[in-house]
Amino acid sequence: MVDYLIVGQGIAGTLMGYLLQKAGKRIHVLDNDSPRSSSKHAAGIINPVTGRRYVKSWRIEDLLPFAHTMYSEIEREFDIQVFHQMPLIRTLYDQKDRNNWMLRITDPAYEKYMSGEADLGTYADRLHPDFSYGQTLHTARLDIPAFIAHFRQHWQKRGEYTITQLDMEALEIRDDIVKWEGIEAEKVIFCEGSWGKQNPYFNYLPFRGAKGEIMEVAIPGANFDRIIKRKLFIVPLQNGNYWIGTTNTNWFDHEEPTAEGLAELEEKLKAFLKLDFEIIAHHSAIRPTVKHRRPFLGHHPEQNRLVIFNGLGTKGASLGPFWAAHLVSHLLEGTSLDSEVDIRQYPYPSAV
Ligand SMILES: Cc1cc2nc3c(=O)[nH]c(=O)nc-3n(C[C@H](O)[C@H](O)[C@H](O)COP(=O)(O)OP(=O)(O)OC[C@H]3O[C@@H](n4cnc5c(N)ncnc54)[C@H](O)[C@@H]3O)c2cc1C
Repeated sequence: MVDYLIVGQGIAGTLMGYLLQKAGKRIHVLDNDSPRSSSKHAAGIINPVTGRRYVKSWRIEDLLPFAHTMYSEIEREFDIQVFHQMPLIRTLYDQKDRNNWMLRITDPAYEKYMSGEADLGTYADRLHPDFSYGQTLHTARLDIPAFIAHFRQHWQKRGEYTITQLDMEALEIRDDIVKWEGIEAEKVIFCEGSWGKQNPYFNYLPFRGAKGEIMEVAIPGANFDRIIKRKLFIVPLQNGNYWIGTTNTNWFDHEEPTAEGLAELEEKLKAFLKLDFEIIAHHSAIRPTVKHRRPFLGHHPEQNRLVIFNGLGTKGASLGPFWAAHLVSHLLEGTSLDSEVDIRQYPYPSAV
């Protein structure tokens, strides 16, 4: 018997498992090991100011300190290194961009997140010149693939992990427990990422899904130690290669990488980088985006043993820790859910 059966081990399921176990709860985790999991291909960038209008991310004042504390605690507790503070330099394409940037940094609410124009320093001879550059502060990168791989191994060693696809027909929901293949649980928490929209209990929620393609490349002689953004991101990886991404589309007829996606990435990188590069890998994944751009948290309206944690969209690394802790405190202490993320705001059409 366990307290919680967690379905899906991307960043959402990993954080739920970690926090529940830390609170003394017994867990079992299921994951189908899909190569299309969003967490397996994300850069894990945490960037407080985004977009062409340089706007602070939603609730960033709450999210950022929470993410820093939780990832640092996990690193210490398990003696791993997955959270890397990393400056981010972005192109300002023209005078209008520069004016907007300079205007923003005079706003006291932004001054701690942005610096004035940035100097490319020694990078200048490796990049085609742009109009100007700005630097975002308090940026970081969570190595999400390494983070989830660590917990997978940890739970496998403890016999708390099964690689399988949860077939909903095999899930027996009773008044007193939920049962799956001999495992009895108090509750099931669905952390299924973009697959959530196929879950018959939660498919009434306004899921979307945005496909992204990325490359891992080797760039001999680059030696970049900062994240650089110009139409796409160049992100230094721990293995010495670079994560290059991403394409972004809401309209796709399959989840696999495409020749068009690869061509788009190559073209954008060549327009930016003076150096030659070698493509090591090309991947695609579906971000679990949501119409209202807010995570989904809470119990199923009619099945109190079924819970969802999903909708982390394009920002799982920054949203994950705060909202996982929020849901855990709701489950264990009965605290109310924030109305912006509570799935009770969405009308439930009829019994499943
Ligand atoms: C190209 C790309 C770049 C990104 N870059 C960033 C970034 O820089 N920073 C950032 O913060 N975010 C980024 N993201 C978004 C980030 O990846 C997501 O917010 C986050 O990973 C979502 O995590 P998740 O656990 O909800 O879903 P997922 O990572 O998709 O995990 C869901 C897991 O559940 C499993 N699963 C689903 N259904 C079942 C079932 N029925 N039975 C068993 N297993 C099941 C899946 O196989 C998967 O392993 C990026 C995404 C993409 C695609």
